[in-house]
Amino acid sequence: MGDWYSIFTMQSLGVIAVLFICVVGLGALALIVIYFLDASQTRDAVRHNYPVIGRFRALFTELGEFFRQYFFAMDREEMPFNRAEREWVYKSSQGVDNTIAFGSTRSLSLVGTPIFVNCPFPVLDEDTQSAPPLVIGPYAREPYEAQSIINISAMSFGALSRPAVRALSEGAKRANCWLNTGEGGLSPYHLEGGCDVVFQIGTAKYGARDGEGGLDDDKFAALVATPQVKMVELKLSQGAKPGKGGILPANKVTAEIAEVRGIPEGQASISPNRHPEIDSIGDLLDMIAHMRDVGGKPVGFKAVLGAYGWIEQLCEEILNRGIESAPDFITVDSGDGGTGAAPMPLMDNVGLTIREALPMVVDILMRHGLKERVRVIASGKLITPAEIAWAYCAGADFVNSARGFMFALGCIQAMKCNKNTCPTGITTHDPRLQRGLDPADKAVRVENFVSKVRYGVGLIAHSCGVAHPRALQRYHVRIMQVDGRSVPFDKLYPPPAPK
Ligand code: SF4
Repeated sequence: MGDWYSIFTMQSLGVIAVLFICVVGLGALALIVIYFLDASQTRDAVRHNYPVIGRFRALFTELGEFFRQYFFAMDREEMPFNRAEREWVYKSSQGVDNTIAFGSTRSLSLVGTPIFVNCPFPVLDEDTQSAPPLVIGPYAREPYEAQSIINISAMSFGALSRPAVRALSEGAKRANCWLNTGEGGLSPYHLEGGCDVVFQIGTAKYGARDGEGGLDDDKFAALVATPQVKMVELKLSQGAKPGKGGILPANKVTAEIAEVRGIPEGQASISPNRHPEIDSIGDLLDMIAHMRDVGGKPVGFKAVLGAYGWIEQLCEEILNRGIESAPDFITVDSGDGGTGAAPMPLMDNVGLTIREALPMVVDILMRHGLKERVRVIASGKLITPAEIAWAYCAGADFVNSARGFMFALGCIQAMKCNKNTCPTGITTHDPRLQRGLDPADKAVRVENFVSKVRYGVGLIAHSCGVAHPRALQRYHVRIMQVDGRSVPFDKLYPPPAPK
């Protein structure tokens, strides 16, 4: 028995040794082949000059994107959102303790840092109030009384997966905030949770388009008649890609998405870069009036500001026509806003950030006595209570966030939203990857995130001596300057006296 066992063991070891030699030999052969392939090609100079090892550069560049955030980047270093910001959202949405210890990792001397001016006598806890609701669209047949200081910004079904939209819908209902559909049409999943919905209509008029891509009044009226649809947002431009229409890659245009949008299945969907029928201030006001008339709900528009003289002209034209003609709201998007897919030159360098654009728009409306009539919604990279409180100081009536809610859904900032390979199931239509996103669980996280934002912005307001976030004023915050001294925000942007 012992002899047989020894023979068997020796034979096994022999086989393993032969296999090992074969594998090593094949590996060495592959390396030699790759060496000659690299050395003989001239398309890639690095691979030509450093055969084989030159290939690791591309691999490490690819992997670095994933590993930097875990091993190398400091808490406040990454873009577009650093680890500290992401962790704040993750912990808030998970409902776990999000306090921090020992000291802030944020440098307060960075130019542009907002520093709120706490009051010696903060508001007592028992005297604090919730931010009061505001009416939007008093001249529409069905005005909307909006409740929440933080709402879910435009993200289309298509850019987002089905479970992600379902989680947002249910979460918005639980949190009592609105959900903006994005320009990709109104899907059953937006309505499923029972939340208030803002229907966004982009340049391709998805969901309400006629055969030529224009607005089909009947389809539009039927869609806006849905009781959950509370407002309509006409999208002129978006912070991440001003002057470019939405882009949905062909591999994301499933049969269902094609049906919701009214487009062919399996073909890339690229919206026109402008509403063809809106070429002037007059056209814009005409279109808003038409949509409000057909749909009966408040209508506003979303834009990222670059040139801003047109907002002055818009206000003058509104005053000429009468204040009923005004858009019911303006959503001011930040030049550094996010998107699923956009060209880098537009994403990086076109459009003003919300830091400049928001006070400008508010001031122009105030100068024309229209600030009460036209509600201002701020959007773009506002995900923490400090940034949101800053927006209320600047004069926002509401704040929208998209990426804050994506983090609440579990987004890990892998930045592959345009590839249909999102590892968290948020921006992919691959059923395998979607399985990890449980809408019921993530809806609770959406609710938790909203509640922590409200609490955090409230803390800042109370510390500044006002009872609720909407009472924050520009003098409640100072902005750090290049010389290391902060300047009151109302000195940088003195608010005009209201008319
Ligand atoms: S995890 Fe990555 S791919 Fe998915 S939504 Fe977040 S950034 Fe986009």
